[in-house]
Amino acid sequence: MRIRTRLTLWYTAILFAILVVISALSYSLLRWSLTQDLDASLLTVGQIIRDVGWEPTDTPLGGAAAAVREILGPEFYDKFFRLVDPDGQPRARATSFAGAIPPLSATAQRNAMRGQHTIETVHLAGGEPARVLTVPVSRDGQLMHIVQVGIPLERSQQTLTRYLQTLLVLIPVGLALAATGGALTARAALARLDAISRTARRIGAEDFGKRLARDGTGDELDRLAETLNEMLARLEAAFAEIRRFSADAAHELRTPLTALRGGLEVALRTDRTAPQYRDVLVSSLEEVDHLIRLAEDLLLLTRSSTGAGPKAAPVDLEPLVLDVFDTALRLAAGSGVTVRMPADFPGAGTGPLTVMGDAMALRRALLNLVDNALKYTPAGGTVELSLARDGAEAVVAVRDTGVGIAPADLERIFDPFVRLDAARARPTGGTGLGLAIARSIVTAHGGRVRAESVPGSGSTFTVSLPLV
Ligand code: ADP
Repeated sequence: MRIRTRLTLWYTAILFAILVVISALSYSLLRWSLTQDLDASLLTVGQIIRDVGWEPTDTPLGGAAAAVREILGPEFYDKFFRLVDPDGQPRARATSFAGAIPPLSATAQRNAMRGQHTIETVHLAGGEPARVLTVPVSRDGQLMHIVQVGIPLERSQQTLTRYLQTLLVLIPVGLALAATGGALTARAALARLDAISRTARRIGAEDFGKRLARDGTGDELDRLAETLNEMLARLEAAFAEIRRFSADAAHELRTPLTALRGGLEVALRTDRTAPQYRDVLVSSLEEVDHLIRLAEDLLLLTRSSTGAGPKAAPVDLEPLVLDVFDTALRLAAGSGVTVRMPADFPGAGTGPLTVMGDAMALRRALLNLVDNALKYTPAGGTVELSLARDGAEAVVAVRDTGVGIAPADLERIFDPFVRLDAARARPTGGTGLGLAIARSIVTAHGGRVRAESVPGSGSTFTVSLPLV
């Protein structure tokens, strides 16, 4: 069922329930107040009869009846009177249809003996209901007779019936009007939603530049359009990033392949001696090695940045950093660069430094930093590896006394394929993916990598990881 129909049905049903409750309440209130009015007018008559007394000889137009008629005016005529003996025998009637009143009820008679009046609803001989007041008339403390005053309920019942009929007509009309209004409102509100989904459908993979129209009202639908637009902007940026990355990767692959092809072509142009072929093969092998490294790094970067996430397990950082330190010692052998750790590693009172994640990936990230530090530190320099606790984070720092990085390049170097001049000048340049891989691994572990540097005197790369 469509939302529009559902909404309309729902609030029509709710409105119906409300109307039924209100009608029932107002109907009972009306009935109660009509009865109150009748009783009040009967009590006025009863008061007059008590005050004036009612003689058995009184005719319908004389005596107490006359007094009552004088006070009540026209209201007198829709009432009827009857005189009853203390033992309940009707004695005289004051108006023609008083004979239709059923015999004095036991309750009314009992009350009359005690000198109290009674008001009750009775059914006349014809079956129509009437409200009857029974008043005792006493003289010198002696119950002389009982006067009954009645008023047919016909008129008030007619009023109630008319009210009920009005409700029965008005409620369906009201419901129909509300349902129509509701359906129209729902359609107007949902039409915009329809428009949004139509536009969203048109914005395909090739068309991320388009945005959904907003009407600036700031309502829910406007916010929905805004949210979708933000999502589109993120998708557009991500696609642009992927496109740039693919172009860069293709470029990076083409350079060594072109060099390889050039070398082979030159070698094939004339006949060469065995040592010359050997030289070509050696340099070709270097290019192939570089290509393999590049392919591996690309694979690593894709794996670490896609949602696969680190294979989460508790990783104790102290043995991990010690292992990286061992590898660094081996890499630095013969380069003239000193690799060391603080004397009190990992620092007194740090306790176990455990993070959740993938030990192999974290090792890769740290190795990339150490590898860079060794590559960009000339002989005689130092590379220092340290581990510490900083609040709820573990901090691994790789400090070198190498060439340093210009402030403007500190953020850029984490982008894929970015190599600074110092690196390009090197004969066997890296792939430019090392820092991108490190950052992507650390980010997947909920951490951060930062670089600080003083050009000419060294750099520090800090990895902060949340502790478990
Ligand atoms: P590469 O494979 O070229 O090392 P990286 O992504 O690891 O690629 O590093 C990007 C660039 O950042 C490097 O080419 C280099 O210019 C610079 N860089 C990285 N680490 C250091 C460092 N410790 N000292 C100086 N420059 C560095």
